[in-house]
Amino acid sequence: MRFQRAKALAFSAACLLGGMPGPAVRAEADRGGEQDTPPNVILIFADDLGYGDLGCYGNTSIRTPQLDRMAAEGQKWTSFYAAANVCTPSRAALLTGRWPVRSGMTSDRRLVLTARAAGGLPDDEITLAQLLRSRGYVTGAIGKWHLGQQPQFLPTSRGFDGFFGTPYSNDEAVSPAWRKDFTRRDYWNNPLFYTPRSEYWDIPLMRDEAELERPVEQSTLTQRYTEAAVRFIETHARRPFFLYLAPNMPHVPLFASDRFLGRSPRGIYGDTVEELDAMVGRLLEVLRRKGLAQNTLVFFSSDNGPWLIFGEHGGSAGILRDGKGTTWEGGHRVPAIFWWPGRIEGGSSVDGVGSTLDVFTTVAKLAGAALPAERVMDGLDLSAPLFGQGASPRQSMLYFRGTRIYAIRQGQYKAHFSTKPGFGPGLVETAHAPPLLFDLERDPGEQVDIAASHPEVVAGMVRLLAERQAGLSFGTDQLVEQLPAD
Ligand code: MG
Repeated sequence: MRFQRAKALAFSAACLLGGMPGPAVRAEADRGGEQDTPPNVILIFADDLGYGDLGCYGNTSIRTPQLDRMAAEGQKWTSFYAAANVCTPSRAALLTGRWPVRSGMTSDRRLVLTARAAGGLPDDEITLAQLLRSRGYVTGAIGKWHLGQQPQFLPTSRGFDGFFGTPYSNDEAVSPAWRKDFTRRDYWNNPLFYTPRSEYWDIPLMRDEAELERPVEQSTLTQRYTEAAVRFIETHARRPFFLYLAPNMPHVPLFASDRFLGRSPRGIYGDTVEELDAMVGRLLEVLRRKGLAQNTLVFFSSDNGPWLIFGEHGGSAGILRDGKGTTWEGGHRVPAIFWWPGRIEGGSSVDGVGSTLDVFTTVAKLAGAALPAERVMDGLDLSAPLFGQGASPRQSMLYFRGTRIYAIRQGQYKAHFSTKPGFGPGLVETAHAPPLLFDLERDPGEQVDIAASHPEVVAGMVRLLAERQAGLSFGTDQLVEQLPAD
């Protein structure tokens, strides 16, 4: 084990730096002509990007020509859900294909892993990177991790050959010199968030397990991630690769590089999204140029809805209600675009339900990998809708807050058993018995409660809640234990 790990680390830096490939890489490259080569997979996971923030999802002030083109050449989903409404549990679900409650990566006492968290994604969880590596993939993580910053939880310990990014959110820790200027109370009103400088936050940039820069210059993050992603693709063009690219933007504090700063009519928030758009365009162009487009599945989505309490520095959920932190549609429903020229029909659209939970199962199938045994997998295989062979197999969606199910979608209906604001003063939970009921097809903005006129639907939802609760398992809370302060 020790030897294998040392070997993996030795060539991981080369992977992300685009240096000379190691022996394992060359051996794979020599077999590059085989017909049964599994597809390359790129998952791009934006941070706090709202359902209404892209042109192809109706935004008229943020210019996203590259993502609009990706949708025109690929498949856009209109009812696609993140498996949580905040970062850590959402990312855990994407990379494990399981409800985060099972791994303990969601908590009723903390929203996400802090910079001093002792926990992280437990070792007995199998990440998509581990699964694909077992199929001969080279695996790289670029961007925000947020599944544990202790060495045993970092990407290089969880199936990735290399890592270049931040271990947690770009606002997770305040620099010592600025701590007196930040308080936990009403932090969204702090003017420093709206005139941000990188030095305010104590965020490291890491390569594998080593710190490169602290505090990281945040204005160049998207640019540097783009360059690292291009190098990763070019270096591993002849080998099946899995790239998990999770930019820090557009999570506050907002930063864009000089080329994008001050350009968007939507202000700094628009600048950051337009820079992400250019990043996606660049990667798709590299795939085309290297002849990889026909054998690469690219998925673009967001980890949760917009952080609305930050006003103009937060995104938009479009027609959906509320945003990040809540179980209203705006907290969970996110943009989702799949792109694979020659396999996925260009300009297709799916209105059926899908989830980031399903990405693991779908990719495993495409890669010819067996699903992890001896555990409940919560994802479904979306191959049928992706390749125009049938409807989405997913009929229902659960909306968790911490470890509890607050709402359920079944078909066109959604029942809220509890509601609670996401952020701000007066965070009071309201229980609903009978539940609030909305018809998401007629009323995607969840404005008209139709429970009184649909008693049979309500009764079915109550039964479904009991059934789904009974099917849950609860891992040890990974978010609550903190390391001593330095
Ligand atoms: Mg987020």
